[in-house]
Amino acid sequence: MTFLLTPIVTAPAPAPDASDTELTAFLWSLINEDFLTEAGWNAERRVLTPVGHPTMGGRSCPVPNCQSPVRGKKLCSTCYTRHRTSGMSQEEFVKVPRVSRHLHLGTGTCRVAGCERPWNNSGKEPVCRGHRWQMIKHGGALEQFLADPAVKGLPGLGDCSVLACNRQAISEFGTRLCHPHGKPLPALRRQPGFDEERWLRTAPSASYGIEVSFRGLPELVVAQLLFGLQHRCHRGARTEIGNFRALIDKTIRPSLAQRLEDVPDPAANSVALTLLNRTRIYALRAVKTPEGEYAKDEWDLGSVLAIMSGAR
Ligand SMILES: [Zn+2]
Ligand SMILES: [Zn+2]
Ligand SMILES: [Zn+2]
Repeated sequence: MTFLLTPIVTAPAPAPDASDTELTAFLWSLINEDFLTEAGWNAERRVLTPVGHPTMGGRSCPVPNCQSPVRGKKLCSTCYTRHRTSGMSQEEFVKVPRVSRHLHLGTGTCRVAGCERPWNNSGKEPVCRGHRWQMIKHGGALEQFLADPAVKGLPGLGDCSVLACNRQAISEFGTRLCHPHGKPLPALRRQPGFDEERWLRTAPSASYGIEVSFRGLPELVVAQLLFGLQHRCHRGARTEIGNFRALIDKTIRPSLAQRLEDVPDPAANSVALTLLNRTRIYALRAVKTPEGEYAKDEWDLGSVLAIMSGAR
């Protein structure tokens, strides 16, 4: 699979009956390394984090524990409002961590030496679930617990079983899930006709901030999306990355489509529809050869030639 993650510059233009693998390799040959680096693409984790990207990213809010994107102002919109009523200076305000039970908090590794599991409860006790129970039995403060040589690290539980998810599992028994995916499962299981297998394949990534997960999508869809994004960026089109994530999580992923052409149009969501259409048109145009059906259309021919020569 590694060849799919690495751009192949010499791939020949695909034939009209090219397989998905050939189309994928061809699209990757058009995706350049600079774009991937600027967009914060992690090929191993299949995650895009375009921090500071001129057309996709923007910055994360500087307030600790808040990773919402900043738009125009120095803080995210929530922290901007909180700051206005706080009576604090900007310097003081950005030192105080954001606390909210609705907040998606970043995960960290359990503080017990050698423990591979993530902590997950608001950072008040930065220990994993297993060590949290041990700590309650142990009694006393966190520092005393951590200093006790009898407290040993626990082995990691691997990735969350939701295909799209980029987090580590925290649940030790049953289906191994991260905190955000483990929480709604009991209620979902009580719903009549709930298909857990399908849910694990199609549930939203629960990514937040400016992270977009491509995990679990077919290879061709990943290449089409990344190529489409690259082309948007080259044209200077602004992509609100939260909208792009929503398009993947709410429309593309649940469709189980093997290529973007087969993704049904999202109903009643014009932002997602526009994003999907533009991205898929770019991806489709890229694989049309000059001999193909699009050759009659001057704009398309020009566009294809430009893409193939690397000019855009
Ligand atoms: Zn914020
Ligand atoms: Zn631990
Ligand atoms: Zn998860």
